[in-house]
Amino acid sequence: MSRSLTPLTRILTNPDFEPFSGPSAKRVLENAKRQLIEDDVDLIDIVNAISSLRVLTRDDSNLIYELQEKYCNKCGKCCRNNKPMDVTKRELKTISEYQHISYKKLKKHVKALPNGDGSSMVTRNPCPFLSSIGCAIYPIRPSDCKFFLLNQILSEMKNNSGPRWLCHMTEDFLAKIVVKRSLEEKHFKESK
Ligand code: SF4
Ligand code: SF4
Repeated sequence: MSRSLTPLTRILTNPDFEPFSGPSAKRVLENAKRQLIEDDVDLIDIVNAISSLRVLTRDDSNLIYELQEKYCNKCGKCCRNNKPMDVTKRELKTISEYQHISYKKLKKHVKALPNGDGSSMVTRNPCPFLSSIGCAIYPIRPSDCKFFLLNQILSEMKNNSGPRWLCHMTEDFLAKIVVKRSLEEKHFKESK
């Protein structure tokens, strides 16, 4: 692939590329435009950055993880999402130690269903660790919870009828990626 392609063109010309569009994309566009109001970025670059959102790099994934860590208000919506949570054996053991309960009792208490590979599934309907004051095991919550937003974005981006975001922060975070990509595109073009 040519080195002269801009960062966004590199994504948009990939044969497997599929654009992100629809009502959510429009809201993300308005959000990103507001953030870029003083940066003199071409509108077409912002639009292309929106289109490119189905492709997430490792840096983007790290950014989403960091933003969730920083801004999650622990509303508990993702703890009642009906989607079972994957918990590894190590994670369940850590939780049992944290809660001063035997591993066996904990598995029974949370109705952990074996996945067949040592890990278990625990229902989030609601999650058995959700208490009246929020997650009772927050400091040691399973990685499925830590990466909830990233995993939801990755899976919902494949939804042809448009993503259904569970967390109110999702479009703000996508807009931050759009801002980052639009500015990278601008700086790349200016450096030529
Ligand atoms: S829905 Fe979002 S804000 Fe609420 S607990 Fe989950 S990650 Fe945090
Ligand atoms: S373990 Fe905690 S953060 Fe994860 S779904 Fe349950 S209550 Fe929510």
